[in-house]
Amino acid sequence: MKTIGLIGGMSWESTVTYYQKINQIVQEKLGGLHSAEIILFSIDFAELAEYQENDEWDKAAEMMKEAAQRLEKGGADLLLICANTMHKALPYMTGVKIPVLHIATATAAKLKEDGVVRVGLLGTKYTLLQDFYKAKIAEAGIEVLIPESEAVEEVNRIIYDELCRGILRDSSRDTLLKEIANFKERGAQGVILGCTELDLLVSEKDSCLPVYDTTMIHAEAAALEALKED
Ligand code: GLU
Repeated sequence: MKTIGLIGGMSWESTVTYYQKINQIVQEKLGGLHSAEIILFSIDFAELAEYQENDEWDKAAEMMKEAAQRLEKGGADLLLICANTMHKALPYMTGVKIPVLHIATATAAKLKEDGVVRVGLLGTKYTLLQDFYKAKIAEAGIEVLIPESEAVEEVNRIIYDELCRGILRDSSRDTLLKEIANFKERGAQGVILGCTELDLLVSEKDSCLPVYDTTMIHAEAAALEALKED
Protein backbone atom coordinates (compact mmCIF):
# COMPACT_ATOMS: atom_id res chain seq x y z
CA MET A 1 0.00 0.00 0.00
CA LYS A 2 1.24 3.51 -0.82
CA THR A 3 1.55 6.11 1.93
CA ILE A 4 -0.76 9.10 1.47
CA GLY A 5 0.53 12.52 2.49
CA LEU A 6 -2.23 14.92 3.51
CA ILE A 7 -1.77 18.68 3.62
CA GLY A 8 -4.59 19.41 6.01
CA GLY A 9 -5.90 22.04 8.37
CA MET A 10 -7.68 23.98 5.59
CA SER A 11 -9.72 23.79 7.69
CA TRP A 12 -9.18 21.00 10.20
CA GLU A 13 -12.96 20.49 10.20
CA SER A 14 -12.70 18.94 6.74
CA THR A 15 -9.39 17.17 7.32
CA VAL A 16 -11.26 15.00 9.84
CA THR A 17 -13.57 13.88 7.01
CA TYR A 18 -10.60 13.08 4.74
CA TYR A 19 -8.95 10.92 7.41
CA GLN A 20 -12.18 9.06 8.12
CA LYS A 21 -13.19 8.50 4.50
CA ILE A 22 -9.77 7.27 3.33
CA ASN A 23 -9.61 4.78 6.20
CA GLN A 24 -13.18 3.60 5.59
CA ILE A 25 -12.44 2.83 1.94
CA VAL A 26 -9.19 1.00 2.71
CA GLN A 27 -10.94 -1.05 5.39
CA GLU A 28 -13.80 -1.82 2.99
CA LYS A 29 -11.42 -2.91 0.23
CA LEU A 30 -8.92 -4.90 2.29
CA GLY A 31 -11.20 -6.06 5.11
CA GLY A 32 -10.25 -7.11 8.62
CA LEU A 33 -8.26 -4.60 10.61
CA HIS A 34 -6.71 -2.91 7.60
CA SER A 35 -6.37 0.86 7.61
CA ALA A 36 -4.67 3.47 5.45
CA GLU A 37 -1.04 4.53 5.74
CA ILE A 38 -1.28 8.29 6.16
CA ILE A 39 1.05 11.12 7.09
CA LEU A 40 -0.71 14.35 7.97
CA PHE A 41 0.79 17.80 8.00
CA SER A 42 -1.84 20.16 9.34
CA ILE A 43 -1.14 23.85 8.84
CA ASP A 44 -2.27 26.81 10.95
CA PHE A 45 -5.23 28.01 8.95
CA ALA A 46 -5.28 31.53 10.41
CA GLU A 47 -1.95 32.26 8.73
CA LEU A 48 -3.06 30.89 5.38
CA ALA A 49 -6.46 32.64 5.43
CA GLU A 50 -4.72 35.95 6.07
CA TYR A 51 -2.45 35.50 3.05
CA GLN A 52 -5.50 34.62 0.92
CA GLU A 53 -7.43 37.66 2.10
CA ASN A 54 -4.45 39.99 1.50
CA ASP A 55 -3.85 38.57 -1.95
CA GLU A 56 -0.42 37.28 -0.88
CA TRP A 57 -0.66 34.09 -2.90
CA ASP A 58 3.12 33.71 -3.13
CA LYS A 59 3.27 33.30 0.66
CA ALA A 60 0.26 30.97 0.65
CA ALA A 61 1.91 28.88 -2.06
CA GLU A 62 5.15 28.79 -0.07
CA MET A 63 3.22 27.29 2.87
CA MET A 64 1.88 24.55 0.61
CA LYS A 65 5.29 23.85 -0.88
CA GLU A 66 6.93 23.59 2.52
CA ALA A 67 4.19 21.26 3.78
CA ALA A 68 4.57 19.11 0.67
CA GLN A 69 8.33 18.87 1.10
CA ARG A 70 7.97 17.85 4.74
CA LEU A 71 5.53 15.11 3.77
CA GLU A 72 7.76 13.96 0.94
CA LYS A 73 10.74 13.76 3.29
CA GLY A 74 8.59 11.87 5.77
CA GLY A 75 8.00 9.13 3.19
CA ALA A 76 4.70 9.97 1.51
CA ASP A 77 4.25 8.40 -1.94
CA LEU A 78 1.46 10.70 -3.08
CA LEU A 79 0.03 14.00 -1.93
CA LEU A 80 -3.36 15.50 -1.32
CA ILE A 81 -4.05 19.18 -0.77
CA CYS A 82 -7.15 18.79 1.41
CA ALA A 83 -8.94 21.85 0.01
CA ASN A 84 -10.08 23.15 -3.36
CA THR A 85 -8.81 26.71 -3.01
CA MET A 86 -5.17 25.92 -2.36
CA HIS A 87 -4.88 23.99 -5.60
CA LYS A 88 -4.14 27.46 -6.86
CA ALA A 89 -0.65 26.89 -5.44
CA LEU A 90 0.03 23.78 -7.47
CA PRO A 91 1.98 25.42 -10.32
CA TYR A 92 4.34 26.97 -7.72
CA MET A 93 5.05 23.72 -5.91
CA THR A 94 8.11 23.04 -8.00
CA GLY A 95 10.65 20.58 -6.67
CA VAL A 96 7.98 18.31 -5.19
CA LYS A 97 8.63 15.00 -6.90
CA ILE A 98 5.80 12.82 -5.65
CA PRO A 99 2.47 13.06 -7.51
CA VAL A 100 -0.24 15.43 -6.29
CA LEU A 101 -3.76 14.15 -6.88
CA HIS A 102 -5.72 17.13 -8.18
CA ILE A 103 -9.17 17.57 -6.60
CA ALA A 104 -10.72 19.11 -9.73
CA THR A 105 -9.35 16.40 -12.01
CA ALA A 106 -10.89 13.71 -9.80
CA THR A 107 -14.18 15.65 -9.74
CA ALA A 108 -14.20 16.19 -13.51
CA ALA A 109 -13.71 12.44 -14.01
CA LYS A 110 -16.81 11.70 -11.89
CA LEU A 111 -18.88 14.29 -13.75
CA LYS A 112 -17.82 12.82 -17.09
CA GLU A 113 -18.64 9.33 -15.93
CA ASP A 114 -22.19 10.53 -15.20
CA GLY A 115 -22.50 12.37 -18.52
CA VAL A 116 -22.85 15.81 -16.88
CA VAL A 117 -22.21 18.65 -19.33
CA ARG A 118 -23.36 21.63 -17.23
CA VAL A 119 -22.70 21.92 -13.52
CA GLY A 120 -23.09 24.50 -10.74
CA LEU A 121 -20.10 25.28 -8.55
CA LEU A 122 -20.12 26.37 -4.90
CA GLY A 123 -16.90 27.25 -3.09
CA THR A 124 -14.76 30.11 -1.80
CA LYS A 125 -14.74 33.34 -3.77
CA TYR A 126 -11.25 32.42 -4.99
CA THR A 127 -12.42 29.09 -6.40
CA LEU A 128 -15.51 30.65 -7.95
CA LEU A 129 -14.05 33.81 -9.45
CA GLN A 130 -10.56 32.73 -10.47
CA ASP A 131 -9.71 30.28 -13.19
CA PHE A 132 -7.30 27.74 -11.67
CA TYR A 133 -10.13 25.37 -10.67
CA LYS A 134 -12.91 25.99 -13.19
CA ALA A 135 -10.45 25.53 -16.06
CA LYS A 136 -9.84 21.91 -15.00
CA ILE A 137 -13.57 21.17 -15.16
CA ALA A 138 -13.97 23.08 -18.42
CA GLU A 139 -11.05 21.11 -19.93
CA ALA A 140 -13.21 18.03 -19.54
CA GLY A 141 -15.85 19.69 -21.73
CA ILE A 142 -18.13 20.62 -18.83
CA GLU A 143 -19.71 24.07 -18.53
CA VAL A 144 -19.38 25.58 -15.04
CA LEU A 145 -22.03 27.91 -13.58
CA ILE A 146 -21.32 30.11 -10.56
CA PRO A 147 -23.74 32.11 -8.37
CA GLU A 148 -24.47 35.84 -8.82
CA SER A 149 -21.82 38.12 -7.27
CA GLU A 150 -23.72 38.85 -4.02
CA ALA A 151 -24.22 35.15 -3.45
CA VAL A 152 -20.51 34.48 -4.14
CA GLU A 153 -19.70 36.75 -1.18
CA GLU A 154 -22.33 35.16 1.03
CA VAL A 155 -21.17 31.59 0.29
CA ASN A 156 -17.59 32.71 0.99
CA ARG A 157 -18.69 34.23 4.31
CA ILE A 158 -20.49 31.03 5.29
CA ILE A 159 -17.31 29.05 4.60
CA TYR A 160 -14.81 31.23 6.49
CA ASP A 161 -17.01 32.67 9.27
CA GLU A 162 -19.02 29.56 10.02
CA LEU A 163 -18.00 26.20 8.54
CA CYS A 164 -14.24 26.58 9.08
CA ARG A 165 -15.07 27.42 12.72
CA GLY A 166 -17.38 24.43 13.15
CA ILE A 167 -20.56 26.56 13.15
CA LEU A 168 -23.50 24.95 11.35
CA ARG A 169 -26.57 27.15 10.79
CA ASP A 170 -29.89 26.14 9.23
CA SER A 171 -30.21 29.59 7.65
CA SER A 172 -26.88 29.07 5.84
CA ARG A 173 -27.98 25.62 4.68
CA ASP A 174 -31.09 27.29 3.22
CA THR A 175 -28.89 29.83 1.41
CA LEU A 176 -26.81 27.07 -0.16
CA LEU A 177 -29.90 25.06 -1.13
CA LYS A 178 -31.38 28.16 -2.75
CA GLU A 179 -28.22 28.58 -4.83
CA ILE A 180 -28.46 24.93 -5.87
CA ALA A 181 -32.09 25.51 -6.94
CA ASN A 182 -30.92 28.51 -9.01
CA PHE A 183 -28.36 26.29 -10.74
CA LYS A 184 -31.13 23.83 -11.57
CA GLU A 185 -33.21 26.59 -13.12
CA ARG A 186 -30.19 27.57 -15.23
CA GLY A 187 -29.96 24.04 -16.58
CA ALA A 188 -27.29 22.48 -14.37
CA GLN A 189 -27.42 18.70 -14.03
CA GLY A 190 -25.48 18.62 -10.80
CA VAL A 191 -23.70 20.76 -8.22
CA ILE A 192 -20.05 20.60 -7.20
CA LEU A 193 -19.49 21.17 -3.49
CA GLY A 194 -16.19 22.81 -4.40
CA CYS A 195 -15.11 23.53 -0.88
CA THR A 196 -14.21 20.73 1.47
CA GLU A 197 -16.37 22.05 4.33
CA LEU A 198 -19.63 22.36 2.38
CA ASP A 199 -20.60 18.75 3.01
CA LEU A 200 -20.82 19.58 6.70
CA LEU A 201 -23.98 21.51 5.82
CA VAL A 202 -25.39 20.15 2.56
CA SER A 203 -26.09 16.56 1.67
CA GLU A 204 -27.54 14.76 -1.31
CA LYS A 205 -30.87 14.23 0.46
CA ASP A 206 -31.53 17.99 0.82
CA SER A 207 -30.40 18.95 -2.66
CA CYS A 208 -32.61 19.22 -5.74
CA LEU A 209 -29.56 18.35 -7.89
CA PRO A 210 -27.11 15.44 -7.68
CA VAL A 211 -24.25 16.45 -5.40
CA TYR A 212 -20.58 16.11 -6.34
CA ASP A 213 -18.86 16.34 -2.99
CA THR A 214 -15.20 17.11 -3.62
CA THR A 215 -14.07 15.94 -0.17
CA MET A 216 -15.51 12.48 -0.74
CA ILE A 217 -14.40 12.28 -4.37
CA HIS A 218 -10.85 13.36 -3.51
CA ALA A 219 -10.55 11.05 -0.52
CA GLU A 220 -11.85 8.11 -2.53
CA ALA A 221 -9.45 8.79 -5.40
CA ALA A 222 -6.56 8.85 -2.92
CA ALA A 223 -7.55 5.61 -1.23
CA LEU A 224 -7.92 3.79 -4.56
CA GLU A 225 -4.60 5.19 -5.80
CA ALA A 226 -2.86 4.06 -2.61
CA LEU A 227 -4.20 0.52 -3.10
CA LYS A 228 -3.26 0.31 -6.78
CA GLU A 229 -0.53 -2.22 -7.61
CA ASP A 230 2.37 -0.66 -9.47
N1 GLU B 1 -11.53 24.04 2.48
C1 GLU B 1 -11.87 25.06 1.60
C2 GLU B 1 -11.72 24.67 0.15
O1 GLU B 1 -11.91 23.53 -0.16
C3 GLU B 1 -11.63 26.47 1.95
C4 GLU B 1 -10.51 26.79 2.88
C5 GLU B 1 -9.28 27.23 2.13
O2 GLU B 1 -9.23 28.39 1.81
O3 GLU B 1 -8.43 26.43 1.85
O4 GLU B 1 -11.50 25.48 -0.71
